[in-house]
Amino acid sequence: MSDELRVALSGVSKSYPGDDGPTQVLAPTDLTIEGGEFVCVVGPSGCGKSTLLNILAGFLAPTEGTVQVGGDPITGPDPDRGVVFQQPNLYPWLSVRQNVEFGPKVRGVPRHQRTAEAERMLTLVGLDHLGARRPYELSGGQQQRAQIARVLVNDPRIILMDEPFGALDALTREKLQGELLTLWRDGKKTVLFVTHSIDEALLLGTRVLVMGTRPGRIIYDEPTAFKTTLTNPSFATLRADPDFRHLRDEVSAHIYAAHA
Ligand code: ADP
Repeated sequence: MSDELRVALSGVSKSYPGDDGPTQVLAPTDLTIEGGEFVCVVGPSGCGKSTLLNILAGFLAPTEGTVQVGGDPITGPDPDRGVVFQQPNLYPWLSVRQNVEFGPKVRGVPRHQRTAEAERMLTLVGLDHLGARRPYELSGGQQQRAQIARVLVNDPRIILMDEPFGALDALTREKLQGELLTLWRDGKKTVLFVTHSIDEALLLGTRVLVMGTRPGRIIYDEPTAFKTTLTNPSFATLRADPDFRHLRDEVSAHIYAAHA
């Protein structure tokens, strides 16, 4: 894939001021993500996973270092980098359809076109029959689907997800994982996906990063291409795969070491 989608962090660190001077929450970090990669990030709470994601989103400026997409510096949020958080943050006063149409509307997309795009996204996430409802009339899983549709309608080339399925029941989670994989494959997206679940990281990712604490840093970075052999991702199939179990143990060992 072309270099224009390459995400490159060079010497990126983040510190916050404190009573006893600045605290570094992210040590100087170099990281390159090629266009089309699906990078999963795991690690103990507080190791800087969200900080890293928020820097890539353009919500946080690094204290030091440079962050670039396709050679251009990230200076703030951009619709080309869609961000999905764990908790859906839909506008409660708009219908589900209006929520999904909101981004294109702000970008000046004509009404008929944005209505068609919103409908296509709602169909993709299985919510086309609920477009007229308000967010509070939806279950948590449906709200998260709407949130994903609202981000994807902008057709971002880079998708940044911070534990997007963490609050969902197991069935809904597996369904959305499958949909995300289809979208990543068909849409040739680059994905950075933060999760607490090693299984989820190994199931979805083409690459897994483990972060350690004090200060937050990347301590492990390996390819993980299990899903390429699966038509339908299934934890049951994967758990029986000795290579999967081996990598799972290895990643767990690094996470435990990071806790120590
Ligand atoms: P993770 O996503 O891995 O749980 P975070 O990136 O949320 O970790 O946080 C990394 C560290 O940065 C934590 O110790 C957290 O307390 C600290 N932190 C995050 N935001 C701030 C802030 N605004 N001010 C001071 N410390 C912060």
